[in-house]
This record gives sequence, structure tokens and C-alpha cells, in this order.
Amino acid sequence: MKTFHGTGVYGAIAIGSASIFKRQDKGVRREKIDDVEGELKRVEAAKEKAIAQLSEIYDKALAEVGETHAQIFEIHMMMIEDDDYNESIQNIIKMQSVNAEYAVAATSDNFSEMFASMDDAYMQARASDVKDISNRIIACLTNEEEQSGATDEKMIICADDLAPSETVSLDKERVLAFVTAFGSSNSHTAILARNMNIPAIINVGADFLKALKDGVKIIVDGHKGDIIVDPDEKTEKEYLAKQADDIRRKNLLQELKGKDNITKDGTKVKIYANIGGVDGIGAVLANDAGGIGLFRSEFLYLESKDYPTEEAQFAAYKKVLESMAGKKVIIRTLDIGADKQVDYFNLDKEENPALGYRAIRICLTRPEIFRTQLRALLRASVYGNLGIMFPMITSVKEVEKIKSILETVKDELKKDGIEYSDNIEIGIMIETPAAAIISDELAPMVDFFSVGTNDLTQYTLACDRQNAKLEPFIDTHHKAILKLIEIAAENAHKSGAWIGICGELAADTSLTETFLRMGIDELSVSAPFVLPLRETVRNIDLSK
Ligand code: PEP
Ligand code: MG
Repeated sequence: MKTFHGTGVYGAIAIGSASIFKRQDKGVRREKIDDVEGELKRVEAAKEKAIAQLSEIYDKALAEVGETHAQIFEIHMMMIEDDDYNESIQNIIKMQSVNAEYAVAATSDNFSEMFASMDDAYMQARASDVKDISNRIIACLTNEEEQSGATDEKMIICADDLAPSETVSLDKERVLAFVTAFGSSNSHTAILARNMNIPAIINVGADFLKALKDGVKIIVDGHKGDIIVDPDEKTEKEYLAKQADDIRRKNLLQELKGKDNITKDGTKVKIYANIGGVDGIGAVLANDAGGIGLFRSEFLYLESKDYPTEEAQFAAYKKVLESMAGKKVIIRTLDIGADKQVDYFNLDKEENPALGYRAIRICLTRPEIFRTQLRALLRASVYGNLGIMFPMITSVKEVEKIKSILETVKDELKKDGIEYSDNIEIGIMIETPAAAIISDELAPMVDFFSVGTNDLTQYTLACDRQNAKLEPFIDTHHKAILKLIEIAAENAHKSGAWIGICGELAADTSLTETFLRMGIDELSVSAPFVLPLRETVRNIDLSK
């Protein structure tokens, strides 16, 4: 068993036999010719044939991957007609009195080298397009048949690199996955793979092909970019289970997309997704989440070398709000400290960081940081449906202070003539036992609660969530935790507030019915859990 690693360009798992993609060696030789005119005519005829082939490939691509991605073959047809490219071929034939194959191959080398040396990644990727069209013309000159790479059995195609036309010519029905030793994720080949829904990994390195024999079993994990050659039984079993899980998730996606999160007796629940940054939006939309229930804004701070500016934060919040097109986006204010340390905050080392100077405690004592974030959030609020929530709350006083700072920031913006929305929901996290127990006093102050079960568990059971030794003592279903959530739910509803759960427990489907019976209105989970959770909700009957 050997493991290789590359760049996954389409996330799925394939297990099957390797088929090493054999390209016919063009073996272009330089030959002197007498009939220059005849050679020029041969090139014209080969170009015509190549264009006819590309037109067929374009139609196949149009049907399989859509117009946007089929366009590359239109571009290839245009490249064959390109003046500079043709002038180069003609000049080489005329000036050196050489055969057409050699003139095309030499032009291909010169042009692809030129593209490869450019700084721009997109232009670099065009080097393979020039090689692709040139090889096609040479094949037409020598009357070679195209090699499809397909076999009767479904195979994992392994190649040094695949040209776009080679990729699209592969018979989808017979290709389980493909792996290339080289290639860039910006290339059309990678783009095509993504759109053909074929698990694919590129840039595995030259050693990969050396370690391979036709027909050997390999595993392709397009999520992680891992390839396992000749896996042992245990590894194969593990991947078969992952693959089954993948397939299950994909089927769910198809069946449940667009459906309501509704129980058999008609109770509706909101299922939102958690994100750590702007790049999480794709998964939120792909998994059909109804909104974002927790945007952990501290990741903006963790990814920065210095305090992120108001402008940088505004841009990130605006992007998330706009992308969610009016669906609810709940952004949690800075939750730094404890396990999330940022150098430039210069926080003192503490004996008990989880019980220390963190989250809202930092914001309330360093208001300049808090105000910058609130200004950015308020400014972004006009671009969508924003909710702002505050972490690590333990008292009424804290919420009063937060609301007073928020009002001051709003006044500042008003004075400066800067717009913000009047419809921003304000919420607090219930992640300390204190907050749950006094939730009757807190609820009238806010629009919603969101239960952070990760911290609520740590503080209720007095178990540091970072300490692996405490695993056996952490019972996430502990009655005390469930009781605290129930108290918070009751008190929220008494005051007309709504309540959600955004900690990991929200994705625990063995508790979904318990949560719904408590009256939990929203569950916010990692994007891949949205649809499995929807399935669970739709199978619950609260009338029984
Ligand atoms: C939680 O504590 O449950 C929570 C959602 O916040 P975090 O995990 O970021 O502390
Ligand atoms: Mg927390």
C-alpha cells in the first residue's frame, strides 16, 4: 500500500482499477521535403479535419457539461485559425523545407513555452491548450485514430496530464475518476472535471505514475486529494464506508433540496448553517440551508496579522449578506480568548483561560475594538437580513452595556449620514449556566437566544473542552444541559423571543425530537449536516 497526495478538484471518493492513459507517441521526426506547396496543403486539410473533430467534441461537451464549459472547444477551433500560429507553421515549412508534422510540433513547443513563462496563472494554463490543438493536427496529418482512454470496465484513468479534449472525450459511463501527475487547478481540464461530477485529483507528482501498474486497485479521495495505491483490506473497508456516506449525502441532496423542514404533524423548524468565513457560503447554498445561524466572526481576526479594519470587516459581512439574498445571517461578535488566541491582542497568559478574559469581556473592556466591529456590522446591515449576537453572556448588566454601546454607534452613524437597517435582530448566546438560569430576565432584552452547547457543556459539567483526558467525563446528553436548554426555551417564548441551538449538539439527530418538543425554533449546523437533519425532522411526529 502506498499513499500519494495531490490537489482534489472534485470532492468524491472512487475505488477501482487504474488504467494508465496511453497517448500514441506522436514521434514527430524532422524530414526534408521538396514539395513545399503540397506540404502547406496537407496542413490545411489536417486543420479542417481537426476542426470537424472539435465541433463534434463541442456538441458532446455542450450536452454533458453545458455551454460555459463547452466554449473551450470553440476557442480551440479559433486557435487553430489563429494568424500567428498559422504563420509560424507556414514559415517553418517554407524556410526550412521540412514536413508539416515537424512544423506543427515546433510551433506547438514555441507557443506553449511562451504561455508557460507568463506570470498570469490563466495564461500559463493555456500552454496545454496549444499542445492539445497541435497534437490533434499532427494526429490528423498522420491519420491516427483518437484514443478515448475508455475500456469496457469502469476504470480510474491515470495520466501525466489530460488535455481538455481528452478529458471530455472520456466516456463518462466508463470512468470512475481521474488522477493526473501534473496540471493546475485553474486549467480547463480541472474545471471540466468539476462539472462532469467525476472525482478527480491533479498534480500528484511524477512518482505516482512510476508506482502504478495497469489494473492495480486504487482509492481516489477527491475531498482530501489522497490516492492510495493497492490498499489493504482495512483501508478499503474504511473508504467503502466513506463512499457510502458520500453517496447517501448526495442522494439526500437531490431528494431533499427545496423541501421544507417540517415534522409529520406540521411543525416547522429553521435549519441554518454555521460558517467561519466568507468562503463557507458555497457549502451553505449547496446544502440548501435556510440561513446562517452562526458566523464566527473571530476568524476574520484570527486570519489577520493586525486588527481587521472597519472596511475589511464591512466587505466580508456585506458579501455574506448579499450572497444569502435576504435569508437570515446571524453574525456573532468577536469571540476571542481561551482556545482562540491572537498575538496582536497581547492577552496575558492565564491559569484558566476558558474561565478568563475572553469574548464579550474583551469587547466590553476594549470598546474601540467592539465599536469598529459594530460599525462594520451596522453598515453592512442594509445589504441583507442581519442578526447580531453576543457570546459568553452571564448577566443582565452585560446586555445593558452592549445595547448602550450599540445605540451610541448607531447615533454616530446617523450623525455621519451613514445608512443602517432598522430591522436588525439582536440576540445573545446561551452558553453559560448563568445565562440559562436568568434567561427569564434576559429574554425581554433581546429578539432571540442561540444556545452554544459546546461551551454550555464545558461550563455545566466543569470539563475543559480542550482537555482530551476529560472525554470520558463529558456526557453531552447530561440531564443538566438539557434542563438548562429547556429553561431558556420556555423563558424565550414567554417573552416572545425565539430560540435556536448553534453548538455541535444541534447536529446530533438523536436529540432532534427532544429539542423540537422543547420548542426549539432553529438548529444551526455545519453545512453537510443540513440535509441529514432535514431528513430527521421530516420523520418526527410530535403529535404522538
Ligand atoms: C458554542 O460554544 O457552542 C459555540 C457555538 O461557540 P464556539 O464553539 O465558537 O465557542
Ligand atoms: Mg462558545
